[in-house]
Formats: sequence, structure tokens, C-alpha cells
Amino acid sequence: MNILITPKSFALAKAKTFPLLETLGFNVIENDKGRTLTEDELIAFAEHGVVGMIVGVDPVTARVIDACRDLRAISKYGVGLDNIDVDAARRRGIKIASAVATNHISVAELTIALLFEAARRLSSMIASVRNGSWQRQLGIELTGKTLLVVGGGMIGKEVAKRARGLMMKVLLYDPYAQDEAFLREYGIVACDSLHQGLEQADAVSLHVPLTPETRRMIGRDELCRMKPTAILVNTSRGELVDEEALYEALRERRIAFAAQDVFSVEPPPPGAPLLSLDEFVLTPHAGAYTREAVERTAVRSVENLIDLLRG
Ligand code: NAD
Repeated sequence: MNILITPKSFALAKAKTFPLLETLGFNVIENDKGRTLTEDELIAFAEHGVVGMIVGVDPVTARVIDACRDLRAISKYGVGLDNIDVDAARRRGIKIASAVATNHISVAELTIALLFEAARRLSSMIASVRNGSWQRQLGIELTGKTLLVVGGGMIGKEVAKRARGLMMKVLLYDPYAQDEAFLREYGIVACDSLHQGLEQADAVSLHVPLTPETRRMIGRDELCRMKPTAILVNTSRGELVDEEALYEALRERRIAFAAQDVFSVEPPPPGAPLLSLDEFVLTPHAGAYTREAVERTAVRSVENLIDLLRG
């Protein structure tokens, strides 16, 4: 039985995962392109004889699902299912699972790193020293500032806990999940309205899945409500933010800084306006790219695929 594995970082976890697959009689087909596959490449790899896929952010569209006639299971290497046409898969009876609770710590830690980057402009100072200059940039303290965490799931909660450890005040906006015990334990305040939270926050961090409701949830109106000193951190999905509106808000200094690990198109097209701004930094979707998270996610996505195919 052939299975296709597309995520590049899976190579780091081969020793832990391939023997199990081989013992169970699976023949592994690996993505040899060294990058996320296109629709056509996915089809070329999997249209004949592939019964299961482990995918990263590759576009598993209705076209891919229709073309891959032997496909019975899709295991997401990660959590967000926005790159998979879940309805098309369900219509074909293809089962889907995601690797929950495997990378939330790593993403939360990168989020805190980006918060510090925004507060202290580390990468720009480091680059300037490397270029022979000795130029300081005036930063701000995070202690005592208010962080609005949007989305109180696995990652949002870890970010909120860490921000409390930094002695920040934390507001949490999540209309779908209210964990009173968690809020009480960490001294976090639930926020009933996104707009109210945006007006109060010194920093805003997004931790919601990409859905029709959350697409561009931070647009012109929301950016206008934020303080001119505010920081926006996005380690979830680029499409949560209206990038044109963000460019204008940063250029006109209506907010102070944005730090993202994600972009609407990855990698961003050459000349993307946001990348020209000193008040914007972008890391290459590296939130879950740690030794620990890669191993946990690879093992879980293999276990999930085996369960789906056998169950
Ligand atoms: P999760 O499912 O545990 O939590 C998501 C939370 O968002 C839920 O509590 C849900 O109630 C809440 N939510 C949904 N719609 C909302 C809305 N409109 N307003 C406020 N809250 C809303 O997911 P998670 O593990 O915390 O991950 C969050 C997202 O992070 C993922 O969907 C994925 O897109 C992204 N992610 C990025 C990386 C990376 O490498 N940068 C890695 C993993 C996940």
C-alpha cells in the first residue's frame, strides 16, 4: 500500500517513523521537491495507488481529491485544515485527522519571541551591528502592558500563560470556548467583544483557525481601533489579516509594528509592499519548526494515518 508524505521537515523524523510504516507493509513515497507541492504535483504523486497522505500546507483541493481515486485517508501534519477541502473529502468518504497538541508549545514560544522582536527591534539592531554600525533603537517594556489573545485554543492558552509570566495583563477573546477555570488560574480576563479588546490592547496576538468567519478578521476598521503604539503578532494564518490595510496602517503609523510568521502567499511574492517596511517582520512559517515539535507531529501524523487506514 502506497502512502505519500509531503512535509519537508518529515525528513528529520524518519528514524522514528519509517520503520513503523515499513513493518506494517506501507510503501512510502516522499516529496522530493524540497518545498510545498502544487495541486498538479500532488496529483502526479498520488493519482494512482496512493491510499493515504500525510500533508503539510499543500493544496488538497477538490480537484486533487477527485483525481486521487484510491485515496482513503488524509493525515494533517499540523492542525489547521484550511488547505484541505474537507467537504470534498467527506463526500468521497475519505477520512481526515490532524495532529493536535503536538506543536502548540513551539508556536507559543515563537509568538513570544515575535512579541519581543516588536518591543525591542532585535533583528534590525543585530543587522545594523553586523553592517558595522552601533545604532540602538528605542524599545518598550512588555511588563504591565496589555496583550489581547484572539482565540483561546491550544496555542492561544500557551501564549496567554507565558505573557502572564512576563507580567503582562492578558485579555482573551474567544466566543466559542470559555474556560473559566483557566482564566481564574492565570488571572486572565475574558473579553466579550473583539473591538473592545483591540481598543484596550498594547499588543494583539492571533490564534484562530482560518475559516470564512476569520478570513480578514483584522481589516481597516479593526486596525483603526488599535492604539498607535500597538503591536500585532500573527503566527496563525496570513489571510486573517487584510495585508493592504495593514500596509497602510503601518505606513501611516496608525499602529506601531507587526510581526508575522505567516503570509497570505508563502513565500511572499517579490516586491510584496509589507516587506519594504521597517515596522514589519516576517519569519518563514517556522512556528512549529523545532526538534521537539517536528518529532511529536511526525509521530502523531503517522499514528493518525495508520488508525484511519486500519479503522
Ligand atoms: P485550536 O483549534 O486549539 O484553537 C483555536 C481557537 O480559536 C478555538 O478555541 C476556537 O474557539 C477559537 N476561535 C475560532 N473562531 C474564532 C473567532 N472568530 N474569534 C475568536 N476565537 C475563535 O487551534 P490552535 O492549535 O490553537 O492553533 C491555532 C491556529 O494556529 C491554527 O488553526 C493554525 O492556523 C495556526 N498554526 C500555525 C502554526 C505555525 O507554524 N505558525 C503552527 C500550528 C498552528
